[in-house]
Amino acid sequence: MKGQAKAKRALEIAAAGYHHLLMVGSPGSGKTMLAKRLPFLLPPLSQEAALEVSRIHSAAGQVLKGLVRTPPFRAPHHTVSYAGLIGGGAIPKPGEVSLAHRGVLFLDEFPEFSRDALEALRQPLEDGVVTASRAKASLTFPARFLLVAAMNPCPCGWYGDPERACTCTPASRQRYVGKISGPLLDRFDLVVEVPRLTPAELARAPKGESTEAVRERVLRARERMLSRQGRPNGELAGRALREHVHLSQGAEDLLQAAAKQLLLSARSYDRLLRVARTIADLQGSHGVEEGHVAEALAYRKTL
Ligand SMILES: [Zn+2]
Repeated sequence: MKGQAKAKRALEIAAAGYHHLLMVGSPGSGKTMLAKRLPFLLPPLSQEAALEVSRIHSAAGQVLKGLVRTPPFRAPHHTVSYAGLIGGGAIPKPGEVSLAHRGVLFLDEFPEFSRDALEALRQPLEDGVVTASRAKASLTFPARFLLVAAMNPCPCGWYGDPERACTCTPASRQRYVGKISGPLLDRFDLVVEVPRLTPAELARAPKGESTEAVRERVLRARERMLSRQGRPNGELAGRALREHVHLSQGAEDLLQAAAKQLLLSARSYDRLLRVARTIADLQGSHGVEEGHVAEALAYRKTL
């Protein structure tokens, strides 16, 4: 795929640190194609994870030829039922969030999912498990996935497009974006714009690095994280986050200035720290430098 260097870099960061990613762009900008690259960038499943994933897929009724070795990629349509997404049913079965365990859950047309379904994503995003309840019993399934969501910038899809005019009113655009609640939006460490390229821009766009080269960097960065703290940076919070992010003076100054100027909430500040930590890891850097923070600031598009 040509062009979209920034979105590709965001995918690389997401894969390395297991950071949830939201892509915003007009139809035809390549959001789906980009998301489908992710499983090729992720580290392969460990033996333990492969067993876990295989068990879930068997419980869902899939016939497996052997252990599932590659991170799953699930892309349910926005019309998926609540039970289909979260899990449940008369005989409780794992939903898409569990089938995506240790892999990628791609939700295209994100605001079109039912509000109940969107809000129900918060538990697995927080705890890595999901509780599917029915009248008499409730069952807990593992659900630690990398969430990649994609959405148009507005209901008609063309807001901000260089060639086509958006026909939405500010109110309808606001309603559309407002379907994603603040607490849910807070789960995305990375929010990037994926602009549609005109044919001329596409023709000029460079091809970019090979998937193998990017994957190599992702694997090395992930190894650094695991040997330092036993888990990917996307799962660091609170004290653990501060303990493992060694900021240079320049990085500290830039963060403070950004926090003041952008009125960052504590959560937004933590998101920046996590992403900067992963950018440093991709470079093989022990400390987090000013440049890492500066790049992290580029992945926080406001809706
Ligand atoms: Zn529009």
